[in-house]
Amino acid sequence: MDFPTYPSGLRLAGRRVVVVGGGSVAQRRVPQLIAVGADVHVVSPEVTPAIEGLVGSGEITWHQRGFEDADLDGAWYVIAVTDDPAVNERVGELAERQRIFCVRSDDATRGSAWTPAVGRHAGVTVAVLGNREPRRSVALRDEILEALREGRIAAPHHRERSPGVTLVGGGPGDPELISIAGRRAVMEADVVVADRLAPRELLGELPDDVELIDVAKLPRGRSAQQAEINRVIVERALAGKRVVRFKGGDNFVFGRGYEEVIACREAGVPVTVIPGLTSPVAVPAIAGIPVTHRGVTHEFTIVSGHLPPGHPESLVDYSALAQMRGTVVLMMAVENAASIAEALVTGGRKPGTPVAVVCDGTMPTQRTVLATLGTLGASIADERVQPPAIIVVGEVVRVAFPEAFPAPAADG
Ligand code: SAH
Repeated sequence: MDFPTYPSGLRLAGRRVVVVGGGSVAQRRVPQLIAVGADVHVVSPEVTPAIEGLVGSGEITWHQRGFEDADLDGAWYVIAVTDDPAVNERVGELAERQRIFCVRSDDATRGSAWTPAVGRHAGVTVAVLGNREPRRSVALRDEILEALREGRIAAPHHRERSPGVTLVGGGPGDPELISIAGRRAVMEADVVVADRLAPRELLGELPDDVELIDVAKLPRGRSAQQAEINRVIVERALAGKRVVRFKGGDNFVFGRGYEEVIACREAGVPVTVIPGLTSPVAVPAIAGIPVTHRGVTHEFTIVSGHLPPGHPESLVDYSALAQMRGTVVLMMAVENAASIAEALVTGGRKPGTPVAVVCDGTMPTQRTVLATLGTLGASIADERVQPPAIIVVGEVVRVAFPEAFPAPAADG
C-alpha cells in the first residue's frame, strides 16, 4: 500500500548532511541546506563550478572522491544524487541500515524521504509535497507564496506590524520587475506614498484599507513637494504606521531618497531601503542594448540631463565626459538632448557616435528611436519624443543595432 509522507520540519543547523554527487541536482539542493545552517559534506570526484564556489568560500566541505561507506558516519540526513543508480542504491541501503533518512534523485520511491518544493515568507516556511509531481508542487508553492505576499491568505494582524518607513524601488515600470522584498513591503504597508513613475499596476492590488498618497497631487514645485513628502512619511510613521515610499527605478538614483532617509533619522523614525532595478541599466537592457560589452567599453556613466550644459547649477563636467570613451546614459534629458549632444561633440566625441533613445521602457508604448550625436536633436523633435526616456550614447548602441550603424563612426 502507498502511504502518504509524514511532513516534518528538520532542524539541521550544525548537523552533518551528506550529499553524494556533485552535479546539477546537488547544485540545487546544497544552497537550501546551507541556508538552514547544515554541516554539508559533498562526496563526489567532480562538482559543478557553482558547488566548487561554495567549497572555496568555506560554506561546505568537499570530499573529492567516490562514495565510501564511512561517509555516512555521524550523518543525520543524506541525499543521493549521483548519475550512477548503483551508487545511489548503495547509499540508500547503508542509510536504511543506519536509520538515516535518505533522498534519492534517480528513483524517489526507493528513498526514505522526499524533498518538497519550499518557499519562505515572513518567517513562515511553505513546503509542498505532491505525489512525485514536482512541477505541480512548484506551481502550488508559488501560488501559495504569491497569495501570502499579496496578503490574500494572511489575516491583517499577521502582517508585519512594526512602524517605520521603507524606501522601495519599484523598477522601470513593469510590475513583474519589482523585487520580491519590495513587493512584500508594498503589500504590507499601511500607507503608500507613490510617484508617477512607480509601477502603478501594483497599487491596484493594495488592500482597501491602505492609505494611498499620490505625490503627483501634492503641491507643485519640486522643493515644496519634497518637503511635504518628508513631512507626511515622518508624521504617519510617528503615528505608528508602516509607510512605504514607492518610486520608479531605485530611490537613490536621482530619486531624492536620501533626503527622506535624513528626514526620518532626524525625527527618530526607523528607515530601511529596498533597492530597485534602476532605469538607466534596466531600460536599455529591455530594449536590447547592453550598457557594457567586452572589448567595446570599460565604463558607463549615468548623467542627469535636467540642466543644460553650462548652466550655473549644473554639476556635470561635459568636457570630461566627452573625453571618456565609454557609454553615457542620459536621464531626464529629452529637453536638453540637443545641447548635450553638442557639448559632447565639442568636447571630442564623434558626431557619428550611435545613440538610442528608449521611451516608456517596459510600458506598452515602449519604442526606440535611433540617431547619432549629430542628429539627436532633430530626431527627438521629428519623432516627438516625450519623457520618460533613457538616452544611450556610445558604441554599445552599434553592438545592439549593427544593421542601423554599419560602419564605425567616421572622424570629424
Ligand atoms: N529613480 C529612477 C529615476 C528617476 S529620474 C530610477 O532609478 O530609474 C526620472 C528619469 O528616469 C526619467 O526622466 C527617465 O530618464 C528615466 N526613466 C525612469 N523610468 C523610465 C522608463 N520606464 N523608461 C524610460 N525612462 C525612464
